[in-house]
Amino acid sequence: MSSISTGRMIDDNSDPVKGKVVWLPAKSIWITAMSLTAIVGGPLTFTCSAFGVFIFLTAVTICLGHSVGMHRLLIHRSFRTHVWIEHALVYLGTLVGMAGPFGMIYAHDIRDWAQRQSACHDLYAHRRPFFIDAAWQMHCAVALDHPPRFVLNEGERSDRFYRFLEATWMVQQIPLAVALLVFGGLPWVVWGIAVRISVSLTGHWLVGHFAHRDGHQGWIVDDVAVQGYNLPHFGLVTFGESFHGNHHAFPESARLGIEPGQFDLGWLFIRLLARLGLASEIKLPHTIMPRAGLRRINLAETARRRTNSQPLIDEQASERLA
Ligand SMILES: [Zn+2]
Ligand SMILES: [Zn+2]
Repeated sequence: MSSISTGRMIDDNSDPVKGKVVWLPAKSIWITAMSLTAIVGGPLTFTCSAFGVFIFLTAVTICLGHSVGMHRLLIHRSFRTHVWIEHALVYLGTLVGMAGPFGMIYAHDIRDWAQRQSACHDLYAHRRPFFIDAAWQMHCAVALDHPPRFVLNEGERSDRFYRFLEATWMVQQIPLAVALLVFGGLPWVVWGIAVRISVSLTGHWLVGHFAHRDGHQGWIVDDVAVQGYNLPHFGLVTFGESFHGNHHAFPESARLGIEPGQFDLGWLFIRLLARLGLASEIKLPHTIMPRAGLRRINLAETARRRTNSQPLIDEQASERLA
């Protein structure tokens, strides 16, 4: 079958379906080592301060680093900020322990590319049962027979800080671990590094698993292999990332919780940056080109808003930024 190019993924007679799942030793050993250390060492070293350090570092690295820095800024360019703020946010994203900046872009874009085709491999769609999907997503990848060509943008490729982070992303835990050891001893290291990384990586897989299978949808995208769904109960702990149906509808939007009641802490942080004059050119659903095939599916609600000449999304909140 043929495919379409998307962003950094260039069609090269590529096929998003045919390929085999291969074990990735480095990724697998890394996550297994962190998880075993967390399961065995976590209970043995538990203290209230270690737990506090775990909560604080998880929140900072996932919200500011992973969601805002890596996902909304580096991958989707949903807003602009000073280069030193961008580097700081992507550094925090690297501390999540999932991959370096280029590895994160690739992992995101290959899945996004595959999901936008008319059909794709089961791994990209999270189609397999729970435990098979866990093994596939956290320990393996698809080696496609005919993959697309992955071409980083010049700005990303030539950024020396990103090249450094990419080459050293696992080692980046060491300075943090040393600081934790000095200030809080072994319990802070176990909870601030191993428990945090294993919870972050497992949580990332869980959100990806459920957010591609079922849930609330405000919009649907026609003629694509995979839909995204919102998981409203997880908006707070995922800092807005669980509103994944919205993300499929408006991938470049800096705001993920776009309907009333969808609490999006990552978006609040971007708004704070904007208030301080540190973020600009913020993309929102009503300012970006709608995706091909995008359709509002809450028909009654849509009809009511149309007759009232109201926007389909909460434009007022986004305009307060301007
Ligand atoms: Zn998705
Ligand atoms: Zn994305």
